[in-house]
Amino acid sequence: MSKTVTVIGAGLAGSEAAHLLSRFDIKVDLYEMKAVRKSPAHHSDDYAELVCSNSLRANNIENAVGLLKEELRVLGSLIMEAADKAQVPAGGALAVDRDEFSGYITEKIKNDPNITVHEEEVKKIPEDGIVIVATGPLTDGELYEDIMKTLGDSKLHFFDAAAPIVKADSIDMSKAFKASRYGKGGDDYINCPMNKDEYLNFYHELIGAERADVKYFDKEIVFEGCMPIETMASRGEDTMRFGPLKPVGLVDPKTGEEPYACLQLRQDDRAKTMYNLVGFQTRLKWPEQKRVFGLIPGLENAEYYRMGVMHRNTYINSPELLTNRYSLRKREDLFFAGQMTGVEGYIESTASGFLAGYYAAMRALDIEPPFIPGSDTVIGSMAAYISDPDVKKFVPMNANFGLVEKMPGKFKGKNKKKDKNAAIAERSLGKICEFAQALNEMIDKAE
Ligand SMILES: Cc1cc2nc3c(=O)[nH]c(=O)nc-3n(C[C@H](O)[C@H](O)[C@H](O)COP(=O)(O)OP(=O)(O)OC[C@H]3O[C@@H](n4cnc5c(N)ncnc54)[C@H](O)[C@@H]3O)c2cc1C
Repeated sequence: MSKTVTVIGAGLAGSEAAHLLSRFDIKVDLYEMKAVRKSPAHHSDDYAELVCSNSLRANNIENAVGLLKEELRVLGSLIMEAADKAQVPAGGALAVDRDEFSGYITEKIKNDPNITVHEEEVKKIPEDGIVIVATGPLTDGELYEDIMKTLGDSKLHFFDAAAPIVKADSIDMSKAFKASRYGKGGDDYINCPMNKDEYLNFYHELIGAERADVKYFDKEIVFEGCMPIETMASRGEDTMRFGPLKPVGLVDPKTGEEPYACLQLRQDDRAKTMYNLVGFQTRLKWPEQKRVFGLIPGLENAEYYRMGVMHRNTYINSPELLTNRYSLRKREDLFFAGQMTGVEGYIESTASGFLAGYYAAMRALDIEPPFIPGSDTVIGSMAAYISDPDVKKFVPMNANFGLVEKMPGKFKGKNKKKDKNAAIAERSLGKICEFAQALNEMIDKAE
């Protein structure tokens, strides 16, 4: 008889972990508080909600997060199954209809006979048994205090921001146009072109605009990967033109030329009723967002489904605290998973949930893991990074090839980077197939 595993939080990591545990025929008590209380970034009652962008980023395996997706697919990830089913067009990226995506996962979890869902807020980490804490970067209240008490003074945090979403039919298409950069992906994006005067006017108003209060933090710490647009703008007049407002590869059909600057809006739902302002995460006050973003041609009368918001993003000091199995060094049946471990991003959080679920399952079944993914895979490289005691300045990290074991041999020619990444992908997927085989053999036995 295997033991029951408690999973706290049905976000990306917790849902993935619970689903994998169930595949081993292990009973799961899954706690999710949304029905009684939601964080400021969560809006729906469904599980695995995407709190900001609907893009899960690159889908090609020569890119680290694209490869991580493929690793998860091979391993039978529930989140990737949902993402592939809910896909909406987004050029080379994998973007999803967020409601369809979360709805699919919620249904699977709620109808799983091995998973008992408890719709309540957990205030204390259970003292006994196998537990996975996957309450995300917005963990707060009594549970936050209890985690800090359990871990000692190892808390870290920084700011994070979400981009606004506007109604498609409120965008003035006599000024905006549909296209993808360099024509890759057809008409996937709505583009709002700006001439030099329009850009400079927008830039000046943006850097002077009023920002929301962030008084509950002593010091503003901004994570580079999710920098508010106004912070980026304040770094220099042209910074945005090399970032989210870069015009390269976009030709305005009205002028036949590349604009001076260009905002892209990405489809956010399958019905194409919502579009998000790509790269426009912001902490401007809401009326200021309408005023300043309304200076962009095409958005003058934009109606907002959701305004941009700023949140804290809490993570633990994993290199000091966790093993590469995502378990606490001082209590090996207590696992942490998701963004709070210092992996950064939707897919990275999913991957850590998968591994925490896997190692928790091995513990519940009382067997040594038959396969431990190493740094020659993306999923293993992230586990190695967050648990490496030699990492002194720990910052949350997206999946990237810098964390993956070097590929021996020399790569030459103009495609050397692509060729090297393709070789890394081939090596990694070979290992992941071995991992999947070991998993499936155990799962077959459990059934
Ligand atoms: C504002 C913001 C924007 C972000 N935008 C992006 C983005 O655009 N792209 C990207 O790749 N990543 C983004 N991230 C980072 C990260 O990928 C997401 O936060 C991701 O959702 C993390 O997954 P998770 O499973 O760790 O946590 P979550 O998805 O947040 O899941 C945690 C779950 O635990 C539940 N919970 C919390 N406390 C309790 C409790 N005490 N009892 C019971 N249940 C509880 C919550 O309700 C939630 O459902 C963003 C993060 C934030 C904060």
